[in-house]
Amino acid sequence: MNAFERALNAEGLTVSTIHGKGRALVAAKDFLPGDVLICQEPYASSPSKSSTGSSCDGCFSTTNLRKCSGCRIAWYCGSACQKSEWKLHQLECKALSSLTEDKRKMLTPTIRLMIRLVLRRKLQNDRVIPTTAADNYDLVAALVSHMSDLDEKQIVLYAQMSNLVKVVLPSLEVDLREITQNFSKLSCNAHTICDDELRPLGTGLYPVVSIINHSCIPNSVLVFEGQIALVRAVEPIHKGDEVVISYIDTAATTETRQNSLNHYFFKCSCPRCTKNPLEELKEVAILEGYGCKDQKCFGFLFYKAENKAFTCQVCCHSRDQYDINRIENEVEELSAKAASSLSTGNLSEACLLYKKVEQLEVNLFHPHSVKLLGTRETLLKVFLDLNDWRDALTCCKLTIPVYQRLYQSPHPLLGLQYYTCGKLEWLLEQTEDALKSFTKAVEILRITHGTSTPFMKELFSKLDEARAEHCYKLSAKDD
Ligand SMILES: [Zn+2]
Ligand SMILES: [Zn+2]
Ligand SMILES: [Zn+2]
Ligand SMILES: [Zn+2]
Repeated sequence: MNAFERALNAEGLTVSTIHGKGRALVAAKDFLPGDVLICQEPYASSPSKSSTGSSCDGCFSTTNLRKCSGCRIAWYCGSACQKSEWKLHQLECKALSSLTEDKRKMLTPTIRLMIRLVLRRKLQNDRVIPTTAADNYDLVAALVSHMSDLDEKQIVLYAQMSNLVKVVLPSLEVDLREITQNFSKLSCNAHTICDDELRPLGTGLYPVVSIINHSCIPNSVLVFEGQIALVRAVEPIHKGDEVVISYIDTAATTETRQNSLNHYFFKCSCPRCTKNPLEELKEVAILEGYGCKDQKCFGFLFYKAENKAFTCQVCCHSRDQYDINRIENEVEELSAKAASSLSTGNLSEACLLYKKVEQLEVNLFHPHSVKLLGTRETLLKVFLDLNDWRDALTCCKLTIPVYQRLYQSPHPLLGLQYYTCGKLEWLLEQTEDALKSFTKAVEILRITHGTSTPFMKELFSKLDEARAEHCYKLSAKDD
């Protein structure tokens, strides 16, 4: 057993090879929902280009930023982050400072991530920063690159990106072939670093987390505290079970999920992807298909070619194909208009248009349709931006049964949706409902997010506040 395997074993984990899957992380002891399986700092990371401009290299915060006076590329929220990044940035800063304006413009987050990966390796080789069994370049070297699966165009692109890295770091012995391979590794191994509410902040390479395979019915979830990746069990995991997370949003049909997994170069064969064909048809008919003419009926519709109609499998009502096409075209047209209003910041117009889209889609799709869900998620954001709490709450509540159906295990998205509901109910002084929603949010998020972060502490205090207010209202009623 090598040092890495011993370190994993101490955490109750082991690496195995599973036929057809390659490396896999396996539990060497039992874990309960909420237990932390892995807690790892990134080997290298870089902030994404946020819509607001820049973010801190250390913590990805977007407020109180100051530019590094040396390179004028890195940003920091304060001296603590600048200090923690300095050993690496010292080298990076020197390299970035000497770049021409043209080259500076080519520094995408992925290029910066690679530069930082090369520099971190150098710092560890030179023993400027320490290595541990779970933090060293050997673990990056062991990642799969899928180079042989790439097409010519992609290889050329990675080679060009590698050349740029060499231009940025001229004094280092940069092996172009290895960097090209590492770009390919990043594409299928790097993780999007998100905040507590799952908004993307940056990208990081976490070689131990990368050992974990995907399943559309995961028993674990990956969340972040700052840049630290935490993998938590969401289901009981028994000794000998494989630890699996989901690489993609699983709120989709098998075909859509498989397409999203394409760039990882494997075909998922989890129970959800290999269910029997009739179940599969039913799932597609619900998630992407049309709703019954009778809006109170939750039946799913199958197409009958001979009479060009969709027939409800529960109440046998039929819907004409041409009628459906007509509504679908209208939805498409209005959605495009709504999206363009939203992108130009015309919120009230976007709101009106999305409301129309929603009404049409309610008429068109199954109540658990992912398209309708997507429209409602957008509409919810628009209502929140417009401070329209009442409509936001109605919209938020409508998404919950769909989330419940899509995510069977405790899922952060469902927890966050309950949290949003609770906050809106609290604002609207619906104390009893707020108390219920905060309680549901806590049930889920304490498993996925733990209990110690400021985000969770805020949720706990909101729950306490709602509880106290509810008790007060009850006692006032008794008097
Ligand atoms: Zn910071
Ligand atoms: Zn700098
Ligand atoms: Zn699957
Ligand atoms: Zn029906």
